[in-house]
Amino acid sequence: MPLELLTGWIGLLFAGLLGLLVGSFLNVVIHRLPIMLERRWAAECAELHPSPAGAGAGAGAGAGAGAGAGAGAGAGAAAHHSTHAAHSAHSAPNHAPAEALNLLTPRSRCPACGAGIAWYQNIPLLSYALLRGRCSACAAPIGLRYPLVELLTGIGFAWVMHLHGPGLATLAWMGFVAAVLALAFIDWDTTLLPDDITLPLVWAGLIVAALGWNTIDLGTALWGAVVGYVTLWSIYWAFKLLTGKEGMGYGDFKLLAALGAWLGWQALLPVLLLASVLGAVVGIAMKYSSGLREGGYVPFGPFLAFGGLLALALGPATLLGWIGL
Ligand SMILES: [Zn+2]
Repeated sequence: MPLELLTGWIGLLFAGLLGLLVGSFLNVVIHRLPIMLERRWAAECAELHPSPAGAGAGAGAGAGAGAGAGAGAGAGAAAHHSTHAAHSAHSAPNHAPAEALNLLTPRSRCPACGAGIAWYQNIPLLSYALLRGRCSACAAPIGLRYPLVELLTGIGFAWVMHLHGPGLATLAWMGFVAAVLALAFIDWDTTLLPDDITLPLVWAGLIVAALGWNTIDLGTALWGAVVGYVTLWSIYWAFKLLTGKEGMGYGDFKLLAALGAWLGWQALLPVLLLASVLGAVVGIAMKYSSGLREGGYVPFGPFLAFGGLLALALGPATLLGWIGL
């Protein structure tokens, strides 16, 4: 076997394995980031509208129980919190109201029984196969979602390595793949596209083009971002003025801006068309299988993300060919 071919295969294997590991981390991001955001928003709301019940909890142990119960009529959630604080004041001082949660702590554990997951049970794909998709402690089924995200990230990373070869460009595109996959699954689960991912992704796309790590130049990336945002913004407002309904959210504008910044403005039309066709097909299928969630809303982000990844893998021209253009 020629040496070049061998190093090529080693590169693909390495990229694929790295993708499996990153995919394992993405599962944590997809699950925890929406919870972290909701907590942050709740904390910001509490700061803007301080409630008397919250102040009662702060006052402490002595009259805590009485104050908490008295304020209970006022605000449900806050009063619940304050009685909890009064109780715990006896046993454990300074007990945190909710367990600290970020992307690194606490360690992974079974959502059904809470048993900790040892490192050897947390190996991408392999552990899922060895455990036969069940928790080793309580035998609760582990969602097929986890190995799927790992596999998709592994394939994406290997594909990027195949396209760009070893180097900084590949590293940048791996970041793109990871961010877009995380956004797709978070949006599917929660109909949220967090600014914490979409906005840095737009900037990163422009920077990567400016550094010459992309095959498109900075102008193409910049207009991709601008046209991507403005296109969906215009469709959103036209739809809203005509029907009074909101067809998508601001997160979708930012996601398409990011796809434009990374793939160039030429990719926007094929991505948008493919996403619309796929979204309509899946939406109708879900309607007839009554798999629609409350409100009958199908998030658009996962389809934009899928279109973006396909445009990366096959080139925008291939997507246009599929649609018959
Ligand atoms: Zn379990």
